[in-house]
Amino acid sequence: MVVIGAGFAGLAAMADLARLGWDAWLVERQPYTTFQPLLYQVATGGLNLEDVAFPIRSLLRRMGRGRFVQGVAASVDWDLRQVTLEGGQTLSYDHLLLATGAAPKFFGVPSAAELGLPLHTLVDAARLRTRLVAVLERAAADHTQHRVHLVVVGGGPTGVETAGALAELRDLLAGRDYPELGRDDISIELLEAAPRLLPSFHPELSRYARRELERRSVVVLTGSAVRQVQEGAVLLDSGLRPTDLLVWSAGVEVADSPLLRGLARTASGRLDVTPSLQLPGHPEAFALGDCAGARAGTAELPQLAQPAIQAGRHAVRQLRRIRSGQEPLPFRYRDRGTMATIGRRAAVAQLRGGLRLTGTAAWLAWLGLHLVELLGVRNRASVLLNWTWHYLAWRQAAGLIPPAPGPG
Ligand SMILES: Cc1cc2nc3c(=O)[nH]c(=O)nc-3n(C[C@H](O)[C@H](O)[C@H](O)COP(=O)(O)OP(=O)(O)OC[C@H]3O[C@@H](n4cnc5c(N)ncnc54)[C@H](O)[C@@H]3O)c2cc1C
Repeated sequence: MVVIGAGFAGLAAMADLARLGWDAWLVERQPYTTFQPLLYQVATGGLNLEDVAFPIRSLLRRMGRGRFVQGVAASVDWDLRQVTLEGGQTLSYDHLLLATGAAPKFFGVPSAAELGLPLHTLVDAARLRTRLVAVLERAAADHTQHRVHLVVVGGGPTGVETAGALAELRDLLAGRDYPELGRDDISIELLEAAPRLLPSFHPELSRYARRELERRSVVVLTGSAVRQVQEGAVLLDSGLRPTDLLVWSAGVEVADSPLLRGLARTASGRLDVTPSLQLPGHPEAFALGDCAGARAGTAELPQLAQPAIQAGRHAVRQLRRIRSGQEPLPFRYRDRGTMATIGRRAAVAQLRGGLRLTGTAAWLAWLGLHLVELLGVRNRASVLLNWTWHYLAWRQAAGLIPPAPGPG
């Protein structure tokens, strides 16, 4: 058995395989797994890099089973049932679980991939923080022009959370650690192509998120697709807007990697799967999480942690059925709801049964859920300490120190 990708889906599968006492290889390009939902806090200095990452080997040790190989799975020989890694190492499998996630989507916008800063990996978060520090320092040192333009593209949960965190950071730094910069010298803009923020949430929650961001002096421009990115500016239909830092969080796509070459895709570009999440024509292989076009009814499932975790567990249950000669069952996703936070005591939550929360209640639910979902006691303790320091003492938590050049 080979599992490719140590994100939410791959790790959920590995944990259940270990519980069954089945051996599996886990292939992952990094030696750690990343908790993506809190990356924006790493990028804006609220959390340390180590708080949102966990070593895979420690996880497997705790699971009590499973072998790890760090590397990039480069190709699959479907006839030989063999995965080849970059560098040439091969792993044979009887069953294969593809859980390789997605990658930032740039929608073909010229220069967006070169000049925009995505927020998808720990390396991205480190780079973003480094650039943020550089931009602030440059503005502070420039006696003729102090103004800083921070622009976030994409009004989904990641964009909303990042814009909110940047606004809190500005309030902590302007006039204090940066006496050269006033609050009005740091502008934060959130650009969204759709007519409203958080398009996947109820319109009432979208309106609340916009109100809360605007209350924090974030300029929200909906119906504003970025047509082109230039050095120091973005081009909208309404004209050019200056940009010193461009966070690109406009969406994700399943990239066309050699590993996935030749596999059928859905209209949205995800891997086509049968109702039981197997690859059509390859019943020995499953595709799980962000990379797969799993459906609930006619719509594809959102690319979120819960569908990925549930898919990982589903695949192992089906492998058990297959090995005992039974037919695999279709995947049924249980929607537990979605959340996004705007900042201190402001969040939105859309829960099961149509329940909607905003404000402090949603924010506390968001804090609690993310603490519970984080891997590792040390990580939880560190995040709790940083949040307590930040939200109670109203001080910058982990700090705006540019991290050392790239982890991994
Ligand atoms: C900034 C951000 C914030 C988010 N916030 C939320 C949130 O608040 N709530 C929520 O529910 N969801 C959130 N999500 C989405 C959620 O993180 C994803 O839906 C989830 O991680 C998908 O899990 P996955 O296992 O499919 O993929 P991933 O978690 O992306 O894992 C895929 C893994 O595969 C590895 N990999 C890829 N290709 C190869 C290869 N060829 N060889 C070896 N390894 C490979 C990657 O390195 C990666 O570790 C957020 C995502 C981002 C980027």
